[in-house]
Amino acid sequence: MKKVVLTSTLALMTSMALANEQAVTEQTTAEQALLPQTVFKNVDIFNGTENKLYENHHVLIEGNKIKSISGDEITVRDDALIIDGKGKTLTPGFIENHAHLMLMGPSLPAMESGKTWEDFAIHGSRMAQMYLMQGFTTVRDAGGANGGLRRAIDAGEIIGPRYYPSGAFLSTRGGHADFANYSAPVGQESNFTRLNMAQEVDSVGDVKKYARNNFRMGATQLKYMQSGGVVSAFDPWQLLAGSPEELSAAVAVAESYGSYVMAHSYRKEAILGALDAGVMSIEHGFSFDCEIAEVMNDKGAYITTNLTAFDPGLMDIPAIKNVPSSYRKAQSATESFKNYIPNMKKCPVKRGFQTDCVGSVDACNIQIAYEKKLNNDFFGPYESLKTLTSIGGEIATLTGDFTNPYPEAKLGVIEVGAYADVLLLDGNPLQDFSVVGTGDKWFGAEKRVDSPETIQLIMKDGVIYKNTL
Ligand SMILES: [Zn+2]
Repeated sequence: MKKVVLTSTLALMTSMALANEQAVTEQTTAEQALLPQTVFKNVDIFNGTENKLYENHHVLIEGNKIKSISGDEITVRDDALIIDGKGKTLTPGFIENHAHLMLMGPSLPAMESGKTWEDFAIHGSRMAQMYLMQGFTTVRDAGGANGGLRRAIDAGEIIGPRYYPSGAFLSTRGGHADFANYSAPVGQESNFTRLNMAQEVDSVGDVKKYARNNFRMGATQLKYMQSGGVVSAFDPWQLLAGSPEELSAAVAVAESYGSYVMAHSYRKEAILGALDAGVMSIEHGFSFDCEIAEVMNDKGAYITTNLTAFDPGLMDIPAIKNVPSSYRKAQSATESFKNYIPNMKKCPVKRGFQTDCVGSVDACNIQIAYEKKLNNDFFGPYESLKTLTSIGGEIATLTGDFTNPYPEAKLGVIEVGAYADVLLLDGNPLQDFSVVGTGDKWFGAEKRVDSPETIQLIMKDGVIYKNTL
């Protein structure tokens, strides 16, 4: 008897659950039917991967994804928004693979000693908006930012791109993200450590602790400082900062989150050591050569390049010119890195876009536009467009399924099912690259308007943020 009651109760519960499920399904279908539709008519498509434009095409956006692409007219609902592209070029939204949205400058020690969380947050939100209006629908942050900015962007509280932060820079004592002053004792708390913007890691235990803390604070990947730098205080650029065990510990923690490590690596030994430990994204990689290319291609690793580092005007900036140790470091770096671009052309690897600006919003706006230009100067329009779109998307999604905040669709391509992150450009960027919003000058450039005129429409996640058609 008892058994029968139990069975019928179970049956009742099951049928209730089924009824519920049916209601949910009906509701979902109704919601799907109401997903907003936008159709781009008469556009030439650069799809992110191919060296050609698909002329006179039509693209239907439904909700936040690309629903269909066709050479013929697409049938849409009466309430669909129709945008006549008039032969302009539809491209994927651009992807920045190495920014620092929280770091406003003017120098790293100045941020350590003279800024509060409010300064960082306000700067970060203004940078996020500027990036989106420069056509970047996705930004990977290479250190100094946690999950707060992304939460605010994704909740629609502020305007910005999809955002992949790295949490605190992981840096050894005296390494490239040690921003304390000379007399600061080991282990002293600072602005950067309190806000989890940079952490000193000097053992496998430290690396594990602060790497895990980064993911806890909203990082989507880790950033490890494996080399020194030019304008930083304590570190020769040739520094091999972390031991193989420490690097491997960072990779192991990242992999436990399904994600990966990006490493700031200059010297050949640093790059090869990082790759050997399982690092998937080499940042700068200035000693790049064909042997490194072979290892990278074997492992499916990526490099990001900040080409402004090769601007001759760099030797004249006060942070280098007026600081003898930095000037010497810059001279030796210039000599050692002179084959970077030729090697990269000779032995290509998958390359992401990197601006690496630390400074005011206006200064970064100029630097981004100039970095776009240098990409074309060195690598031509097609390679540069791939770097800005599909390769950037591959790099962003190295975060894996369960740590990626945007796991439902592809980034950086115009394909059926991809996220609806697109731009409409006034011109053909494969013929005239300047339509992506390049700037001709870095030092001494005039302040730029928020958004390049030739980027006539910006859509992220199916939402239009600019439309001057
Ligand atoms: Zn950087």
